Amino acid sequence: MAEHTTLMIFGASGDLTSRLLLPALGQLLMTEPKRTIALIGAGMDDWTDDKWRDVVQIAFTSSDAADAMTRVETEYHRADITSVDDLKKLLSAKKAPLALYFAVPPSVAAAACDAMATIDLPKGIVLALEKPFGVDEDSARALNERLAVLVPESQVFRVDHFLGRSTTLNLLGVRFANRVLEPLWSATDIESVSITYDESLGLEGRAGYYDRAGAFVDMIQSHLLQVLAVFAMEEPATLDEVDFRAATTAVLRATSVWEDDPVHNSYRARYTAGSVGDRKFPSYVDEPDVDPARNTETLGAATFEVRNARWAGVPITLRSGKAIGDPSREIVVRFRPVRHVPVGLRGDAEGAVLRFSLGTAEISLELNVNGEADPFELERTTMSAELGPGALKAYAEVLSCILDADPVLAVRGDAAEECWRIVQPVLDAWKSDKVPLEEYVVGSHGPEGRPAAG
Ligand code: NDP
Repeated sequence: MAEHTTLMIFGASGDLTSRLLLPALGQLLMTEPKRTIALIGAGMDDWTDDKWRDVVQIAFTSSDAADAMTRVETEYHRADITSVDDLKKLLSAKKAPLALYFAVPPSVAAAACDAMATIDLPKGIVLALEKPFGVDEDSARALNERLAVLVPESQVFRVDHFLGRSTTLNLLGVRFANRVLEPLWSATDIESVSITYDESLGLEGRAGYYDRAGAFVDMIQSHLLQVLAVFAMEEPATLDEVDFRAATTAVLRATSVWEDDPVHNSYRARYTAGSVGDRKFPSYVDEPDVDPARNTETLGAATFEVRNARWAGVPITLRSGKAIGDPSREIVVRFRPVRHVPVGLRGDAEGAVLRFSLGTAEISLELNVNGEADPFELERTTMSAELGPGALKAYAEVLSCILDADPVLAVRGDAAEECWRIVQPVLDAWKSDKVPLEEYVVGSHGPEGRPAAG
């Protein structure tokens, strides 16, 4: 582990920087007491070094990390990162190891990459980019080609913070280290899977981005497909970046919409006025800066199939919605029922159900047992356990990898393109109105007749 690194953030005054990156950096430094950082902020604003240090201090304080400020050198540079001259000045004197985080709009990041192609970059520089990686497969490929001119793929970090969540990483231990589960992890014993990430939050003033993206691109195209890849991958020989990313990417390459029929295997909906707890939300179309004509969904779902020997024939449904009451955030694995129960044992012998919570780190298993009152009558019972929440929150886990130049939790370029290929048929079907836009009331579980965990 490099103990002194330079982290340069492009977009120092942005929302991502203050709300997520800086608090996560503070948390990371608190758990790694030997790490020191040169933290360089860059952006269009005329900030002073002191102003930047204040911003960092406030963010660190918000994550109980004020003490870590003593291990952070800060400087701020006013710069247009699409300007070759500004970039030369910013990067010229910087020594490796240097990580550069693009917390800027995608169009600015692309223009900055073009400008960077004309200058010598510090050796070993790591480039971290936020989603969205393009807006479709072609634009993702074009972005990848731009990046490939700058640095080798192992130095490109496409950030998907769901890969840094302990709830995603817990899948590895539970599945691969338990002989009671791993042999059952296939179509032979599993009937269906759903991965749901519903939220109680509404738009929260993010119309500028969200009204163009929608729930499906915001959550399923990126985060939930990554969770699916970790869930369904073959056992990697090691958890290093080569093996781990080969295994997750292989899943994505094998994944397509169920029966290649997005019209009958996806649905979309948007919320109408209501409340979640004591918070009232207007209808989505009445939220500030929303253009109702865009028909943006606030809830999307689609069923996919991983077409390989392990998973063919198992429907895997991914869903995410906003403004949901009592939101579900879980992976639900429905096992097939036994083929036969002894005559004399009464009741439904439904298949077992294994649930991984994606909110808190919990796991539960629903099983059939003998009834309490009548031992020959089957009943259902649930065993549950808490898993370690992980020392680091997702963005801190991701930042730790970036600072150590270890891309294991970054999305590989070809995987980013695959994610667009997988969802494109759904987006096309929705765009051509072949799938009706349903409605659901804020605070409900979503559109009627559409269970969260399918
Ligand atoms: P903001 O609009 O809040 O911030 C963008 C930042 O980029 C601002 O500091 C802006 O400076 C700066 N900037 C714009 N143009 C230039 C330029 N030419 N040179 C230097 N700096 C420039 O965006 P967010 O922080 O919300 O998002 C940043 C990225 O992160 C986007 O790609 C977004 O998709 C992604 N993302 C954001 C999430 C979030 O929760 N915010 C979540 C997941 C991903 P100025 O204000 O002075 O123009």
